[in-house]
Amino acid sequence: MKYVDEFRDGSLVQGLAGAIAREADPARTYRFMEFCGGHTHAISRYGVTDLLPPNVRMIHGPGCPVCVLPIGRVDMAIELVLQHGVTLCTYADTVRIPASGGLSLLKAKAAAGAGGGDVRMVYSAADALDLARRNPERQVVFFAIGFETTTPPTAVVLRQALAMGLENFSVLCCHVLTPSAISTILESPEVRAYGSVPLDGFVGPAHVSTVIGSRPYEFFAEEYRKPVVIAGFEPLDVMQAILMLVRQVNEGRAEVENEFSRAVGRDGNLKAQELVAEVFELRREFEWRGLNIVPYSALRIREAYAAFDAERRFPLVYRAVADNKACACGAILRGVKRPWDCKLFGTVCTPETPIGSCMVSSEGACAAHYTYGRSRQPA
Ligand code: SF4
Repeated sequence: MKYVDEFRDGSLVQGLAGAIAREADPARTYRFMEFCGGHTHAISRYGVTDLLPPNVRMIHGPGCPVCVLPIGRVDMAIELVLQHGVTLCTYADTVRIPASGGLSLLKAKAAAGAGGGDVRMVYSAADALDLARRNPERQVVFFAIGFETTTPPTAVVLRQALAMGLENFSVLCCHVLTPSAISTILESPEVRAYGSVPLDGFVGPAHVSTVIGSRPYEFFAEEYRKPVVIAGFEPLDVMQAILMLVRQVNEGRAEVENEFSRAVGRDGNLKAQELVAEVFELRREFEWRGLNIVPYSALRIREAYAAFDAERRFPLVYRAVADNKACACGAILRGVKRPWDCKLFGTVCTPETPIGSCMVSSEGACAAHYTYGRSRQPA
C-alpha cells in the first residue's frame, strides 16, 4: 500500500538504526519523549527500542486521549446513562475506562436496565448525530474525547445539529489541547526543578499536526531549547525522527523539523482550525489524568451552540476523583515511571482487566508494552 509499505521497509530501518548508532555520542545519553499514543504503539509494535543503542532512550508522553481522561469525566458520562437515561455514544476504548464504584461505561450499559439509558460505541461523531436523527424520542449524547485530530469532526456535527434544529442531541465535550500538555510537562518539577525526567527533545504528533501544523511547536524549541521533530506513525518515520533529534542535540540546535512533510505543513489545516474556533472556546481549566488541573488546556462549547452542550442541558457537576492508589498511570503519563514499574502490571492489571486507563487503549503505554514487549524491560 502506497505511503505505508515503503515506510515499513526493514532494510531501510536497519540502515537508520546503523546511522543512529554511529552518530549517537557514546559519552552522553539522549532522552526523547514521544508525545503521542500512536507513536507509543508504533515503538512497541515494531520493536523500535530494540533497534536503538542503550544511550538513546524513549520516554512515553501523555498523548493517548483515553489515558488522560480523568475518572471524574467518565463518571459524568456514566451519570448521564444511569441518572438521565440518555443514549451515550463514544469511541470504543472509552467504554472500558475504569471509573468510580467499580463502574465503566460498559458496565453502566449492563446496569442501565429499566432506567432506559444505553451506551453505543461509534466510529465517528457523525454516527452519533445520525442515531439522534433516527430516534427523536431518545436524548442522544456524544461523549467527545481526544486531541486536535478529533475536534473538527465534533465541530461539524454541532454545526449540523444547529442547522437541523435537533432537540435530542448534545455533546459532552472533553477535547484537549496538545501544546498545553507539552508546556505542563516542560514546566513540571520533575523536568524543571528535580531533573528526574531529563528531556532532550520530542517526537511531535502526526495526526494532531496535520490539523495544527508545525508552528505551535516553535515556542517549545525557542523558549525551552527543546528540539521537536514531527513524525509519521510508521517505523521508518519514527527512526528517521530519532536520527534527526540525535543530530540536533549533537549540533546544539533546538528547532522544529518536520519528518512527516507528506501530510503536515507549517500552518496546518486552516479550514479545520476556523471551524473549531467557530464552535469551541478555551476552558478556563481542565483536569488531566497525571497532569492535574491544567489552565486553558481544553475546549468547551461556545454560547452560540449552548443548546447542544450536555453540561448545560443536564444538571452535571464535575467532581475530581483520585486514581487507584496502586496504579501508576499518572506518573507514567508524566514520563516519571514506566509500565513495568507498576506492581500491578501484567498481574492484576491486563488489557482484559484494566485497573488504570493506560491499560485500556492500544495507544496506552501499559497496553502497548503488555501486548508487544512484556518480556522485555529496557534499561
Ligand atoms: S499497569 Fe495498570 S494499574 Fe499499573 S499503571 Fe498501568 S494501567 Fe495503571
